[in-house]
Amino acid sequence: QVRVRFPPSPTGNLHVGNVRSALFNWAFARHHGGTLVLRIEDTDTERSTAESMRGTIEALRWLGIDWDEGPEVDGPYAPYLQSERGEIYRDVVAKLLAGGQAYECFCTPAEIEERAKARPKGAPSGYDGHCRDLTEDQRAAYRAEGRSPVIRMRVPDGELGFDDLVRGPVSFSSEHVPDYAIVRANGHPLYTLVNPVDDALMKITHVLRGEDLLSSTPRQLVMYRALGEVGVTDGAVPRFGHLPFVMGEGNKKLSKRDPGGGLADYREAGYLPEGLLNYLALLGWAIADDRDVFTMREMIEAFDIRRVNANAARFDPKKALAINAAHIRMLDHDQLAAAVTPFLAEAGLIADPPTDDQARLLAGVVPLIAERINTLSEAVGMAGFLFRADDQITIGSDAALKPGDADTLQAARDALAGLPDFDHASIEEALRTALVDDLGLKPRHAFGPVRTAVTGSRISPPLFESLELLGRDSALARIDRALD
Ligand code: GLU
Repeated sequence: QVRVRFPPSPTGNLHVGNVRSALFNWAFARHHGGTLVLRIEDTDTERSTAESMRGTIEALRWLGIDWDEGPEVDGPYAPYLQSERGEIYRDVVAKLLAGGQAYECFCTPAEIEERAKARPKGAPSGYDGHCRDLTEDQRAAYRAEGRSPVIRMRVPDGELGFDDLVRGPVSFSSEHVPDYAIVRANGHPLYTLVNPVDDALMKITHVLRGEDLLSSTPRQLVMYRALGEVGVTDGAVPRFGHLPFVMGEGNKKLSKRDPGGGLADYREAGYLPEGLLNYLALLGWAIADDRDVFTMREMIEAFDIRRVNANAARFDPKKALAINAAHIRMLDHDQLAAAVTPFLAEAGLIADPPTDDQARLLAGVVPLIAERINTLSEAVGMAGFLFRADDQITIGSDAALKPGDADTLQAARDALAGLPDFDHASIEEALRTALVDDLGLKPRHAFGPVRTAVTGSRISPPLFESLELLGRDSALARIDRALD
């Protein structure tokens, strides 16, 4: 029975690296019919916020990444907020101290650093095990000095190795893994404790996470062994898979501060959840050699953690956009109308839900923009002219009308005013006759000014269909304003 976890720290907004980890765990769990646990790692009380936790949960819901145990759904290993698990950690630590797998260390950071500096170059750095074997009297003496101990794990000598699902065999010598702190002097439990303890208690079978955490894995192996020795668990160790780094601009690791590093940017820009997830899946994984676009259902079906590439993945915003566009094309027109509605509403163009009249215009324009937008927010620029009042059309700087355009517009106005039927085929015929045949204009010069006058922009859905949707009165009113 596969059990995986996504354990975000609610200290900020989700970034694309986190989301990729969540996605791979989710796809792995769903592929194997397993369980995804959402655990909130909020023991860093200074940096964790309830707002960030809510934002994370909401973002996962938006993405469609659902979890089987965790906040809002509960489960057999509750609570799933580490801030509510203090007693569990205290109990584990007491057992580790009693068993000798952990010990109290009274050294100050300055003392540790001083001793490290005094060691010959090339000797292992970090904590030197000074307090490993203190007697009861020595500990009492330190306490009498007013010192409070941190608690450290005793790292046994030997190799700490594992077979990484992505990278193959990985091994660290314990020489490079100093006895590490698991509880601060103020009693505060650290990531080094709570993360592996919860993975063990929650019976996690596979830990799939970013490569930045690779160096914490040998320490966690020490913890799993210790938990088995003191009878907290049966000593089972999960399999690990470390997902490759994601590189941004200039071949540096993508950070959440990079443009395009935070999840919220994509949502605001009008990415579809599936489009974004599809792109993030490509950061280390491929469904097939010659195929980039797939649905989440297809990903789940095909996902194999062993086929994740260990090489760093490059984040390519252009490709992300192209993949999103492909997902927009997969929507039917009703779905696309529903998807762009919040963006048009946010821009103040329509109500949400739209009025009947707005819904009619939306249904008319969606087929015209479906092949032309790469993000949902582009619908605002592309279709906005339909929903604006005639006197709210301002001609953008990219589309300025030239003095000579007045004749063109006047001729277009006359042709449109006299049409018996205001449908796009009649409109096209009338404008071609009036502007191309009679005035002798090239089509680009003929229709450009009309487009600009009516939409305010040089970029719009196809002109004749747009005019039909807009209706004659508005079309004429807008041309008149441009002629003014
Ligand atoms: N809370 C940790 C983080 O967000 C979890 C790391 C892990 O997956 O072990 O970085």
